Amino acid sequence: MPYLMIGIDDTDWEGGGCTTYVMYSFVKYLIKDGSINNVVGLPRLTRLNPYVPFKTRGNASLSIIIHVASEDEVANYVELMESLIDQMVKRVGKTSPGIAYMVINDLSNINERLLWFYRKSVRDMVTLDLARKVADKVNAKLVGGRGVIGALASLGFIPIDATFEFIAYRLEDEERPIIKPSDVKPWDDVTSHFTFLNIYDNQVLIEPHGPDPVLFGVRGDSPYHVLAMGNYLANKYNAIGWIIYITNQGTNDHRSRMSEFIPYRNVDLVGAITNVVFNDKGHAFIAFDNDRRAIAYRHLGISRELDGCVGCVVQAWGGVKLNGDFSLYIEGVRVLHDRYVEVRNPRCPVCGGPMESVGRSGILRCKRCGFQDRLPRVLVPRNRWFSVNPRASEYRHLMKPSERVGLEGLALYMPKPFLWVY
Ligand SMILES: [Zn+2]
Repeated sequence: MPYLMIGIDDTDWEGGGCTTYVMYSFVKYLIKDGSINNVVGLPRLTRLNPYVPFKTRGNASLSIIIHVASEDEVANYVELMESLIDQMVKRVGKTSPGIAYMVINDLSNINERLLWFYRKSVRDMVTLDLARKVADKVNAKLVGGRGVIGALASLGFIPIDATFEFIAYRLEDEERPIIKPSDVKPWDDVTSHFTFLNIYDNQVLIEPHGPDPVLFGVRGDSPYHVLAMGNYLANKYNAIGWIIYITNQGTNDHRSRMSEFIPYRNVDLVGAITNVVFNDKGHAFIAFDNDRRAIAYRHLGISRELDGCVGCVVQAWGGVKLNGDFSLYIEGVRVLHDRYVEVRNPRCPVCGGPMESVGRSGILRCKRCGFQDRLPRVLVPRNRWFSVNPRASEYRHLMKPSERVGLEGLALYMPKPFLWVY
């Protein structure tokens, strides 16, 4: 029996909407007409390259895989998606929704070109023209505007690492409730590390602030943990419904790990820091020995660490933006070699007391017993190999939180929960 893969993108607009809500509504229809059990796995939420200059508000695209029995069924599903987009999406500003779909017989044998297109869309710039060419090669159909790019990319999301998000929705015309830290903290404690980025100090991170219908989203590596926590909060804050997506969030999928500076890409930079200058806003401008420049914004909480690291060899990564020069906007830093060495006076060889230098002659004198001699100084390397990540409140969708390290790929071994949409 063949499968229909169908993806959507660009259905949110400046004043509201949310692409995940369109997919949620689609799934609700599947429940109504009794075909919900034909959904293979969980619907997929794919975030795309955050560094492209033109993007939708959440930069999210979605897709779903459904067992189908006939061509008629395929046409019905596509029609349903089209009519949902027509009803739900306000075509204002740059909003240009699109659908991509294809029918395949073997889910374990998906055209390599499609996987490549996903990787390119999450790390690089992609044109409508390229999307059309790839769609042609892989036998996918594109319907609509610019959104077809992200929609097609989402079809190619065959993860080697993934996470889950429990998204709860609210009535858009009602005022957004404020989720209390005291409701989030205990759940954060008991579900850690299978959920992440819930709360930072007393700042609730699961609640968006935009005009969209999302009430909150709980992210994690286990669908059961996001379900337990999300379900509690959904009841408490009167959600109108919820769904669990499998996502590429928190996977670092956007990192190219290339060192070549190409605008709008996330690249890696290895070099020795030669200078760090702070501007009046506290942002750090960092110069490297290979003539590369990088900027670390103050609010990320990274820049101060780099101040004491002039001379260190570091690996920094982030997006390359075209602001006059090609600067790297730092997302994270790893110190590969800490060259900082502290020079100390030795202890007195006679009594063990502290020693101080006498003038410029290089002679040391014991403060306690007065013993004097020309003694070698003691060199103490700091040897601080550290990595700096942004503070939790500054994480963007695709950036991997440090508490996820070691859990990569776990999501792929998690059975689909019996209950995943309400
Ligand atoms: Zn002494």
